[in-house]
Amino acid sequence: MTHRDDPQQSDFIREIIDNDLQTGKHGNRVATRFPPEPNGYLHIGHAKSVCLNFGIASQYKGTCNLRMDDTDPAGESLEFVESIQNDIRWLGFDWDDRLFFASDYFEKIYQFAVTLIRSGKAYVCSLSADEIRQYRGTLTEPGKNSPYRDRSVEENLDLFARMRAGEFADGAHVLRAKIDMASPNVTMRDPVIYRIKRSPHYRTGDDWIIYPMYDFAHCLSDSVENITHSICTLEFENNRPLYDWFVNELIEGHRPQQIEFARLNLSYTMLSKRRLIELVEGHHVSGWDDPRMPTVAGMRRRGYTPEAIRDFCARIGVAKKDNLVDIALLEHCVRDDLGERAPRAMAVLRPLRVVIDNYPDDKTEEVECANHPQKPDMGTRKVPFSREIYIESDDFMEDPPKKYKRLGPGREVRLRNCYIIKFASMVKDEATGRITEIHCTFDPETKNAPPPDGRKVDGVIHWVSVRHALSAQVRLYDRLFKTADPAGSEDDFTSLLNPDSLETVYPCYVEAGLAAAKPEDRYQFERLGYFCADMKDTAPGKPVFNRIVSLRDSWAKMTGEAGRK
Ligand code: ATP
Ligand code: MG
Repeated sequence: MTHRDDPQQSDFIREIIDNDLQTGKHGNRVATRFPPEPNGYLHIGHAKSVCLNFGIASQYKGTCNLRMDDTDPAGESLEFVESIQNDIRWLGFDWDDRLFFASDYFEKIYQFAVTLIRSGKAYVCSLSADEIRQYRGTLTEPGKNSPYRDRSVEENLDLFARMRAGEFADGAHVLRAKIDMASPNVTMRDPVIYRIKRSPHYRTGDDWIIYPMYDFAHCLSDSVENITHSICTLEFENNRPLYDWFVNELIEGHRPQQIEFARLNLSYTMLSKRRLIELVEGHHVSGWDDPRMPTVAGMRRRGYTPEAIRDFCARIGVAKKDNLVDIALLEHCVRDDLGERAPRAMAVLRPLRVVIDNYPDDKTEEVECANHPQKPDMGTRKVPFSREIYIESDDFMEDPPKKYKRLGPGREVRLRNCYIIKFASMVKDEATGRITEIHCTFDPETKNAPPPDGRKVDGVIHWVSVRHALSAQVRLYDRLFKTADPAGSEDDFTSLLNPDSLETVYPCYVEAGLAAAKPEDRYQFERLGYFCADMKDTAPGKPVFNRIVSLRDSWAKMTGEAGRK
């Protein structure tokens, strides 16, 4: 393995944990959890959280639970539960037997609410949603007490039981924590903790028609699971006093501690589940695993490796301040990993036929090609060569500029791993003037060897023998959005989509050996980039290739950081 997971990594969260271990704050345990809501596929932002939570657990020999945070039935489904598990496993992490569902705690959470009512710390409020908003006040003005705030414990217990029993319409009542309507923190102004919502749940069906709100359910689920460090994103910072209030009121003994970190934002894409759902449902992409999607499933299908994603997450680290990470860094991590281990192959995406006039028509030669130029242990393969070959059409120019390192009139180039050929003539389509065929001669002294007279050639180009070529479909992917920060734009986000994010090219010609490519096999097509046999559309002998990344590393260029090619 070539990835750079660094077990010694440190950041402000690990410093908190180090400190807690010194003071014995959580009984010298480290127990984290990753708590996705199963209402969509995981994206690269979730991957950051997965790497953080599972990474901390393994570094400190603790545990990390996988908990489906499924307390809001809308949009949740088993498909998402399964995709989340697949993606986390693929990323290289394991929760052993600790897969939990917040919905399994519904009865417990209900009992916690009853406890709060009994201690006079929660009440049933019969204001409408709009009225609750009006009573809440603003950042600069305190709120007003609800007229229902002083209902007796008995009345509250009765009403809450009847809410559960289905006696009231959706929205008729809510249960609220009785905290402080004048708190400078709006979150603390008697937050709603239960609502009536007639919506079947994918696991509990019609068992419940009242559902706990996130702030109530989350801290209690953490407590039930004996979590020590409950790591979440920055937008929950204002909710921390509420988290602490609930656990202080309701939990005896050990209490979990919430720590916030900055969420990942990535340029040229969007990491909000709501937006990703819109992309899928609006058919702007082919599905959650469309190779242009920032989802783990999409990146996997595109050909990214789990090692590269983990490397990326380690490099961006965790901070306390939101920022926008350049997607070029992620692509750099992918190149860095694949440069080490993807075998090389030759493929011609936009073919131009070249006839080698002095090469016998009935002859085929095998050319020995290294699978990796710097790694002899990756072996060699034999590639057939014959009189007619395809080259990339932009590897020939009729009137090239001086610096052009390819074929043109009067020029000589080396065919990668093979002979030197010299331009002889070209054939044009009379109607369009387009070049349809090139004629060359080859120098038999130069097979994989320098010319005996020491002459210099104009470049090295790749090729595929016409007679032996395998035709393949190749999908060239580019960034999903035209603008660097689509999430920060006021415009309708669909108008910011890059219309050229997918180009399908067919037929491309690839070396014959690629008939053996299996779904998810990755290659470097020489001079073109890294490609992955599509995991869904590749059939035996019929590969479909996704371009993972091109070879141009804009990150390395920008930062001066060299890749590890
Ligand atoms: P979204 O905002 O995309 O809808 P979410 O927070 O609603 O995401 P959850 O399923 O609740 O999605 O997220 C599970 C965990 O992943 C949470 O702990 C959340 O903090 C974390 N997470 C979500 N998005 C990011 C991100 N962009 N960067 C880092 N962590 C994230
Ligand atoms: Mg959420």
